[in-house]
Amino acid sequence: MKQTAEVIIIGGGVMGCSILYNLAQRGMTDSLLLERDVLGSGSTGRSQAICRMHYSNPVTATMAWESLKVYQNFDQIVGGSSGLVKTGYLVIVEPVDRPGMERNVAMLQELGINTMLVTPAEARDLAPMVRVDDDEPLAWEPESGYADPYLVTTSYASRAREMGAEIVLRDPAIDIEVSGGRVKAVVTAQGRCEAPAVVVASGPWSRQVMAKVGIDLPLSTVRHQVATLTRPVDQIPDHPTVGDIAQSFSFRPDGSSMTFVGFGEDEVVGEDYNEGVDMPAVAETLEKLAHRMPAMSDAYFRGGWSGLFTVTPDWHPILDRVPGIDGLYCAVGFSGHGFKMSPMIGVTMAELITQGSATSVDIRPLRFSRFAEGDLMSSSYRYRVLA
Ligand SMILES: Cc1cc2nc3c(=O)[nH]c(=O)nc-3n(C[C@H](O)[C@H](O)[C@H](O)COP(=O)(O)OP(=O)(O)OC[C@H]3O[C@@H](n4cnc5c(N)ncnc54)[C@H](O)[C@@H]3O)c2cc1C
Repeated sequence: MKQTAEVIIIGGGVMGCSILYNLAQRGMTDSLLLERDVLGSGSTGRSQAICRMHYSNPVTATMAWESLKVYQNFDQIVGGSSGLVKTGYLVIVEPVDRPGMERNVAMLQELGINTMLVTPAEARDLAPMVRVDDDEPLAWEPESGYADPYLVTTSYASRAREMGAEIVLRDPAIDIEVSGGRVKAVVTAQGRCEAPAVVVASGPWSRQVMAKVGIDLPLSTVRHQVATLTRPVDQIPDHPTVGDIAQSFSFRPDGSSMTFVGFGEDEVVGEDYNEGVDMPAVAETLEKLAHRMPAMSDAYFRGGWSGLFTVTPDWHPILDRVPGIDGLYCAVGFSGHGFKMSPMIGVTMAELITQGSATSVDIRPLRFSRFAEGDLMSSSYRYRVLA
């Protein structure tokens, strides 16, 4: 492991690797990324990897939209495949949330995002296998879909390595040295590396990592479950990605015959949690799925997993310098919407580090101090998943 670097990144999830790549792109190639396990072994490897733009704040919606463009052209921009599959995305909310949805779609359209309100009849034309009620508010995103988080993470890592970055696996950062109000070095079991800039991108472990320098990040970890099904392809050869917010779950196809169903966002857990799925919750969710897509009552349950959302009090990330410690940065708290934004998280963090501020997207609403200032992000909706 090198002993000095221009920048050290702690965490080899999609965020750490995207930041590493984007720094290298801007000439900061004397860099070191530390990963306690293997690349993508945290939240990234468990992601449903849905890419959609229906958020209720311009900053997150823009990040998702600009990132989708990167995923669409990943081979030319980064090299390698993002695994993006365009399925279209249908979002369904409760009738009481119609005004919020109308406001939201207008806001997204103003940002140039390809989305529209659709009537139940139009939704039935677009996705005949999906049952919608006549009073359900619906929005459609034709370009959305899902991508492959492992491919994206390792592509960023490979390109960064080719440009000179060093990646060390199975070697956790165990200390961050600070001297005179400046970050100085990161210590691991294998050694010590000095650098004037350190980025904490350690996903669910970020609170513990930042505690080493006496900073208490307002983060908690929430368990999210994913059930996998083989669908009856004779009846449902394909289907769009659906955010069934009205029934609190989402689903998307995977490959030619699988459907992934994501649910649960209320269970705050620690590092040791049940990484499988809860069968009563699976049964309840599959009932909701069969209501939404009736032919899925013939689907075959294959298994599943759980992973962690790392959440802040307003369910939005913190992208900033760490106040009081020069050279220390954090990119944390992505809840259930980090993957889709990772290309622009990398770009904006690289701009912040190399230029002093992010210019591609204004990330000031995601500043560290917003919690102390009581200036939290707000939403057009009651649902945190659409924050
Ligand atoms: C079940 C599930 C479904 C999801 N679905 C979606 C979705 O559909 N769409 C979407 O956009 N997002 C989704 N997300 C969210 C998205 O996956 C995350 O926001 C994103 O992967 C976070 O990436 P990260 O790099 O910040 O964290 P992580 O992937 O957790 O990476 C952090 C890395 O830091 C490493 N690390 C920790 N401590 C140390 C240390 N001391 N030293 C060195 N390394 C360390 C960890 O091993 C880990 O690899 C989902 C998440 C889950 C769990």
